[in-house]
Amino acid sequence: MSPTSKQDPPVKRRCHRCHGSGRTPCQICRGTGQVVRGVDLRGKQILDRCVGCFGVKTTRCPTCGGEGFV
Ligand SMILES: [Zn+2]
Ligand SMILES: [Zn+2]
Repeated sequence: MSPTSKQDPPVKRRCHRCHGSGRTPCQICRGTGQVVRGVDLRGKQILDRCVGCFGVKTTRCPTCGGEGFV
C-alpha cells in the first residue's frame, strides 16, 4: 500500500487528434505539400511548395505538441 496521496500521477492519454502519431496533415495545403499560387497565362495552375509544412505534408500536432499523448 502506498501512503495516502491526494493526487494520482497524471495519466497520459493518446492524443485524439493525431491518434498518437504526433503529426497531423498540414492544414494549409491539406496534406498535399503544395499550394496553388495562381494560374499562368494559359490557365495552368502554378504550384508552390507549402510554407506551412515545407512540402513535408504533415505538421506537428497542435493538440499534443508532437508527443502523441496529452
Ligand atoms: Zn502544407
Ligand atoms: Zn496529437
